[in-house]
Order: sequence, then structure tokens, then C-alpha cells
Amino acid sequence: MKITIKGLNKKYRNGFSALKNINLEINNGLFGLLGPNGAGKTTFMRILVTLMRPSSGIVKVDDLDLRKNRRQIRAMLGYLPQDFSVFAKLSTWEFLDYAAALAGLTSIRERKRAVDEMLEQVGLFDVRDRRANKLSGGMKRRLGIAQALIGDPKIVIVDEPTTGLDPEERIRFRNLLSTMTQREIIIILSTHIVGDISSTCTEMALLNKGELIFHNAPEKLIEEARGHVFQIDAIDSELEQIKEKYPVITTIPAENGWEVQVVADQLKHFPGKAIEPNLEHAYVYRMEYGLDN
Ligand code: ADP
Repeated sequence: MKITIKGLNKKYRNGFSALKNINLEINNGLFGLLGPNGAGKTTFMRILVTLMRPSSGIVKVDDLDLRKNRRQIRAMLGYLPQDFSVFAKLSTWEFLDYAAALAGLTSIRERKRAVDEMLEQVGLFDVRDRRANKLSGGMKRRLGIAQALIGDPKIVIVDEPTTGLDPEERIRFRNLLSTMTQREIIIILSTHIVGDISSTCTEMALLNKGELIFHNAPEKLIEEARGHVFQIDAIDSELEQIKEKYPVITTIPAENGWEVQVVADQLKHFPGKAIEPNLEHAYVYRMEYGLDN
């Protein structure tokens, strides 16, 4: 399965361009869409799930065209929106059963099996009789991914899934997504949290102000930042000057002051040593210094 996007633009009615000439190919696996708030991620997702029409451009799922084959494409989709909420008064099991029926599982026996299996997979089988709106935040999010995955969709779109989750739940959710990629499936994960784009993402794209500024494997982004991340041993009085000159990633108290990690094209004015970049360094480096693709 492959999603092909060519020359995609979205201009809102007030004239604001939220997506500018996006060209992108997305293949099976976990695809991370990263960008700061306001970058255009939700706009992009809403177009992909056919909730919004683009102003121009082509979106294809294999040979199906989003403009002409909306219904067929919809049938292949699962969606976990950012503001996913659960109907009151349904048990967890009933909620998922309802979602399964909407996803086209009409046979009751088949549906029961699919629902039980999915509850197991997302770790909610033991709470299946609990009212869905009484689940914890992390459990609700897992129910959200379960409703997106039920009915065997070929494309699953997940918008900012870890917002408001504690670190443990966040890790659990990420692991759940990466296990799902063992099937033939495209999972698109949109987030403004760099840590959500883990090494389990086969590919990632970076959106900024409606433009696609990077598309490749996460390691490639890290590679770009190599030689541009530095650790400076600073004393108190230097801290402000460093912050004025460079984007600071972390400031850690040390014996005689601070260990400050910065990204920079070249380190001037302060002595420091180059350190191995991680994805967060690489993201900041690209946002601050990267101009071309
Ligand atoms: P993200 O999901 O990355 O935070 P969005 O797609 O929600 O970004 O928004 C991208 C930009 O488009 C933002 O600047 C937002 O204010 C603007 N925007 C979103 N919806 C509308 C709308 N209906 N009309 C005008 N501008 C909008």
C-alpha cells in the first residue's frame, strides 16, 4: 500500500495557507509527522481522512484518487482524532462493538471475536465491562486506538495521541503502535512531541508553517545534526549569553556551574565539545538552521 501526495495545498476561507505544495510518498509502516503547533498537521490529517477537501493537489491511495474514490478510501481508514471522546453510558466492550459495527463488521459472531481480540491487544480486556467514560486517560487513548484499528483498516491516522498521558502510558502507547505495524498497514502518527517519533518510525516528515521541510528516516535527520551539537561547561554568568547566541536544548547543573547543550552551525565565543545528536537536537537544528530539504 502506498499514499502518494502531489502538489497539495490548503487555503482556508480567510485566505490563510495552511498547507503549501506538499509532495510526499508514504509506505507501509509507522510514519511520524512532526511539527510545532500551527504547522498544519491537523489540516493534513483531516484531508487524508476525507473530512476536508484540499484547495488543490492530488492524494492517491494506490490507484484510488481521494477526489473520485472517497467512499472506497474511507472504508480503508481508521482515525483517532485529537479530541477523541467516549459516549457516556456504554461499557468499554459495547463501545468497541459499536465501532466495529460502524467499521462494517456485520456478523455478530465475527464482531464479538474481533472485539475480544482487540481488547486483548490493547490491554483492556480486564476492564471490558467498565463504563468507557470512567477509564483512565491512558486507557481511553488505548480504546481510541482500538476503535481506529478494528475492522482491519489499511491506513490508520492518529492525531497527537500522547498529549496528557503520563510517561509510562506514553511509552505503552508507542509500543502498541509499533506492534501494530507487523501487519500490512500504514500508521500515520502526528505529533508535536519529538519523543513520540521513536526509532520505531520507519520514516518521518517535518512540517513547519505549512511547508514540508524534511522527509526521510529519523536517522537521516540525526545525521544532519552531527557536528552541530555541543556541550559547553559554563559558569553562572555565562548562561544568559549562551542562551542569547544559541538554541539551548538542556541545562544540567554540574560541579562548577552548568553543562549546557546547544545546537549551532559552528560554535564560536565559547569552548565546547561536539556530542552525539539525538532526534530532539536534530529537530531543533533543522528548525533553526535548516533551509533546504
Ligand atoms: P497543527 O495541527 O500542526 O497545530 P493546524 O492544521 O491545526 O496545525 O493549523 C494550521 C494553521 O491553520 C494554524 O495557523 C491555524 O490557525 C490555521 N487554521 C486552522 N483551521 C483554520 C480555519 N478553519 N480557518 C483559518 N485558519 C485555520
